[in-house]
Amino acid sequence: MGVLHPHETKGLRIAASLLLDEPAPTKSDVVRTLNSKGYRTARGSEWRTSVLMRTLLHPRMAGLDEEGNPIEDFGETVLTVDEHNKLNAKYAPSAHDEEGEAQAVPRPAYDYLLTCGLSACGQCKHPAVGARVTGDAAPGYRCPPPTEGVASCGGVRMTAERLETAVAEEVLAELMRPGVQERLARMQQDIKDEVSRLRAHVQGANQRFAELGDLHGRGLLVKAAFLAAQDATKQDLKESRTRLRNLEQIAGLDISTVTDVVAWWNSAPQTSRRALVGLVIEVVYVLPSGHGPHDPHERINIVWRTPS
Ligand SMILES: [Zn+2]
Repeated sequence: MGVLHPHETKGLRIAASLLLDEPAPTKSDVVRTLNSKGYRTARGSEWRTSVLMRTLLHPRMAGLDEEGNPIEDFGETVLTVDEHNKLNAKYAPSAHDEEGEAQAVPRPAYDYLLTCGLSACGQCKHPAVGARVTGDAAPGYRCPPPTEGVASCGGVRMTAERLETAVAEEVLAELMRPGVQERLARMQQDIKDEVSRLRAHVQGANQRFAELGDLHGRGLLVKAAFLAAQDATKQDLKESRTRLRNLEQIAGLDISTVTDVVAWWNSAPQTSRRALVGLVIEVVYVLPSGHGPHDPHERINIVWRTPS
């Protein structure tokens, strides 16, 4: 789960973008294009229309569970949530009830702005997750309940609309201050530098695994220590890859287009907005709801990024 076959992924992305074209080629044309370019399924077979559509419309393609909630630490996805929603709106087979009446198309998945570690619990600092409490509840952020190996408190939640509106207001106000373009450029350079360091670190993982194996092979590391070190290296690699992916989004944002901030915000795709938020803030802590007036700004504590 979450580990993509790079060649299959590329084929699926091509298929999705063809299918979302207006006007789009037919599904069979798309399948012919994929097969003629040598793209195959994970099992190495040629694509068929039914298999391609079932694969592309599956929530996992966008890192979502069956209810449309984002899966934590899913890893790289084939599609963005927005692409998933558009494909489903256009191609999902509409269900029919017993009288043959068409049922409503499944509700689009909510595209959370503050995932990827951008929001965290103000009590225990664990990253917040996006989820609906029940299937038809409003989307929200929450500190996940503690589980084996996860020491979260599970005590804080906030509806997505309140949290995202409050954060967007503060971020936009920050971006309207004088000299912001120059600050953005410096912060983005810091992020590009970190991307280079992380890439080198990730690429060095095989070397680190080999060194551990070598120490163990020469009897310099007992088995328990070897296994523990190997697990720590695997965990580090997973976290580094996730961080790298998030930072690459921010590093790739074209900040020269962010001149009229409000106009930009209102028309930008959600992935670009998320990248801009990630460029100016480290994290937003969501505080437990107290008593008294419910001003959402009093429930958030933003840690701003500062240029080095
Ligand atoms: Zn918590």
